[in-house]
Amino acid sequence: MIPIARPLIGAEEKAAVMSVLESGQLAQGNCVAEFERRFAELCGVSDAVAVSSGTTALHVALLAHGLGPGDEVITVPFTFIASANSVLFTGARPVFTDIDPATYTMDVDHAASLITPRTKAILPVHLYGQPADLGPLLELAQHHGLALIEDAAQAHAARYGKRMVGSFGTGCFSFYPTKNMTSGEGGMVTTDDPELAARMRMLRQHGMNKQYYHEILGFNFRLTDLQATVGLAQIDKLSAWTTVRQANAAYYDAHLPAGVAPVVRPGRTHVYHQYTIRVPGDRDRAVELLAERGVQARIYYPLCIHQQPFYRQLGYRDYLPHAEGATEVVLSLPVHPSLTEEERAHVACAVNEAIKLL
Ligand SMILES: *Cc1c(COP(=O)(O)O)cnc(C)c1O
Repeated sequence: MIPIARPLIGAEEKAAVMSVLESGQLAQGNCVAEFERRFAELCGVSDAVAVSSGTTALHVALLAHGLGPGDEVITVPFTFIASANSVLFTGARPVFTDIDPATYTMDVDHAASLITPRTKAILPVHLYGQPADLGPLLELAQHHGLALIEDAAQAHAARYGKRMVGSFGTGCFSFYPTKNMTSGEGGMVTTDDPELAARMRMLRQHGMNKQYYHEILGFNFRLTDLQATVGLAQIDKLSAWTTVRQANAAYYDAHLPAGVAPVVRPGRTHVYHQYTIRVPGDRDRAVELLAERGVQARIYYPLCIHQQPFYRQLGYRDYLPHAEGATEVVLSLPVHPSLTEEERAHVACAVNEAIKLL
């Protein structure tokens, strides 16, 4: 079976972990500080704050912006559950917009229409590795005095125009094993606001500013040096891996039936965390046909967040036709950088065969 993801861990990562183990400095030490410095440099921002996951990155970003009970955060429902759960963790309420059906990212006009006096932040997701429409979103946020929080968990080093994602608003990244780079588990928040960064550093470590002086209620969201040293080795490889992901995507674009390939808007650099096709016909049957041909295809995501049982309990109902429709047609194919040329040719053949049989 050709897997949907295959984390790449090389000799550099292994040697780096061994040297951290031997150093005795295991948690939030020099490697974490160096990882933050390098990640900030990658995104072109002044500060990066390392945390334990992409979920905790979103959580501390929202808290640092002052989100709490009574506030509303405008976000999308067609994404991983963490994008909206992080809003609930703060006591604020997620308000869902529909998506652009071509790119699956936030519908900016719909977002604008949902702003109320309670709105405090806009939280777009760079789904599958393609940036949301950050130009108009930043303008909208600035015009209304709202925080812009980017869920960039799937979009390391993706660009909108010339600028990196995570440099428009407060950027939240994940280093989960299937993401474009990994540290095992891990996350990072990027910002150009040193005061915001300082609040996030306190929130990740029990509200502590000076050793054992606790100014606010915080958490243990620390990253370990073992994880950071893996992340550091992966930063060095990210750019080459992204190039391979893009080459794999270009191959599929050229070899798959017309109309199924992902749409990339001009000026946006897609980093293909996922290569997600639109299946013309019975999508669930396509998954089976591909599995029979040795290709693991996955559905990201089979339900919108407002359709999840827990959100139904909170009173959310169906009302977002493009997002709800997307759950029925999307299918993600293996596009990761360890795919061989034979494997990617096999995937393309299998998809062509499967679609003929639908
Ligand atoms: C992976 C992911 C997250 C959460 O990151 P974790 O590191 O798994 O906590 C949040 N949002 C999106 C869009 C993701 O894909």
